Amino acid sequence: MSDTIFGKIISGEIPSEFLYEDDHCIAINDISPQAPVHVLVIPKRGIPRLVDATDDDQALLGHLMLAAGRVAEQLGVADSFRLIVNNGAGAGQTVFHLHLHIIAGRTFAEGHMAG
Ligand code: 5GP
Repeated sequence: MSDTIFGKIISGEIPSEFLYEDDHCIAINDISPQAPVHVLVIPKRGIPRLVDATDDDQALLGHLMLAAGRVAEQLGVADSFRLIVNNGAGAGQTVFHLHLHIIAGRTFAEGHMAG
């Protein structure tokens, strides 16, 4: 767990609708969506940034990718979605509890990943 907004959501201190939950992660709608589908996949273990993950987190990181795929299927966007991890404030990370953004429901141009 972490002392961030996501830690409080996972612990239930801040009520939130979970679109998906298993032993290791949850998925919730982003409060400020950047696309018609904007979902956050959040590990229950509070790793601040991707670079803070260690070898002990290897299985968890793989699990998050698989969970993101399952959530995309559940949301009906399995054929077209983007997965984003912001690492560090300079990259736009604002909540220092690792999370994956699933972005879908809009057009993605080839060769234009940033933005
Ligand atoms: P970051 O910028 O750290 O990669 O992403 C943090 C995301 O968390 C942002 O897209 C922001 O809109 C979202 N967010 C911040 N606070 C809350 C909250 O209380 N609930 C939900 N569902 N999303 C939040």
